[in-house]
Amino acid sequence: MQFRSRWLAWLCLSLMLWAAMAESTHNHANQTEAASCSICAVAHSTIPVSSAHQLKPVFATIGLLSEEEITAKAQPGVFELGIRGPPEA
Ligand SMILES: [Zn+2]
Repeated sequence: MQFRSRWLAWLCLSLMLWAAMAESTHNHANQTEAASCSICAVAHSTIPVSSAHQLKPVFATIGLLSEEEITAKAQPGVFELGIRGPPEA
């Protein structure tokens, strides 16, 4: 399976390189052949204009952030297991 996929990848890569070389090096004897060539027609065509319309974002206030002050509840040093703590000096 790995050999087949590797061979297929090399085949596709070589076809792509061959096509790129053929497109860049081909030439025509006269202008009428160049006018009917699909590669030349694509190469000299203009950039296609996008037909999609992109909407502008709308920014609106949907609410206000209200902050609440949070105070940590500190507990005195009570050991939950009932074992007495170290002696104080
Ligand atoms: Zn051509």
